[in-house]
Amino acid sequence: MAMKTGYLIDMDGVIYRENQLIPGAADFIQALIATGTPFMFLTNNSAPTPQDLAVRLDHLGIHGIPPKQFYTSALNTADFLSETDPRCTVFVIGEGGMAAALHESKIANDAIRPAYVVVGEGAASMERLGKAHELIERGARLLATNPDNWCPVSSEKTRPGAGATAAFLEASTGRRAYYLGKPNGYMFHQARRKLASLAMSAPDNVVMIGDTMETDIRGALEAGMQSFLVLSGSTQLENVGDYVYQPTRILQTVGDLTEEVKTGQASDRLNSPAFAHNGAQGGRSGVRHQTDIFAFHKPRPRPAMTK
Ligand SMILES: [Mg+2]
Repeated sequence: MAMKTGYLIDMDGVIYRENQLIPGAADFIQALIATGTPFMFLTNNSAPTPQDLAVRLDHLGIHGIPPKQFYTSALNTADFLSETDPRCTVFVIGEGGMAAALHESKIANDAIRPAYVVVGEGAASMERLGKAHELIERGARLLATNPDNWCPVSSEKTRPGAGATAAFLEASTGRRAYYLGKPNGYMFHQARRKLASLAMSAPDNVVMIGDTMETDIRGALEAGMQSFLVLSGSTQLENVGDYVYQPTRILQTVGDLTEEVKTGQASDRLNSPAFAHNGAQGGRSGVRHQTDIFAFHKPRPRPAMTK
């Protein structure tokens, strides 16, 4: 019997960039739906709600994805609080998706004596930061939805992310934030659990598809999942070798997977060295090729995106 694979799929840089669909992404999702392959979108962006994301995909040409197939770092934060401290109250810095997720989990807003200051994606006013600072000084604990210091806006432009906002409060209060979202294992374990409950039965193996080494690939590895890196987003091939953790496979885009999802036949091209000694499939040509590229081309690393 064939192994049943389920996919956790990052969005920005994997499915779209700005408001442009990545070539092949719509066909890939279509193939997943047509073959009944379990999948869920997994994003560190805590600003949108699952409904917002479903609408966005719809406008880009990927239709009919139900909101329950999106898991954001805002939902992850709400799940974390409901599980670890269900009666807590919070002061939130961030946009709609965070507020909606907390509301859904019945976690109350509190500007007087909250247990946590929660920092998510979105514009933070100096006034709001000042208030958060004051509340942390009075004992509130600092929690951030994700560690991304910056996020891509377009190919030439970035904006500050929740990690940078949390870092501001870490500096002003001398306290350390706890970061949820990818690569935190809590995000991956929750996502795997949700994926299993969406599917008729739990997939035999779960693959994370992402474009960012520090979040998607690192987190998947630490959670014991396979990871496929796509080169359609934030990571260039020549930088992959700079990381200690490596993806299971490297693909140009998710479109490279469409055929094998349709046929159920895994392709063996572009496997990275990380799993070469796994033995199961025996020796492969091609495997050494990847390391050679890295050995001879070592550019200066980009500034780290996350902490
Ligand atoms: Mg991404």
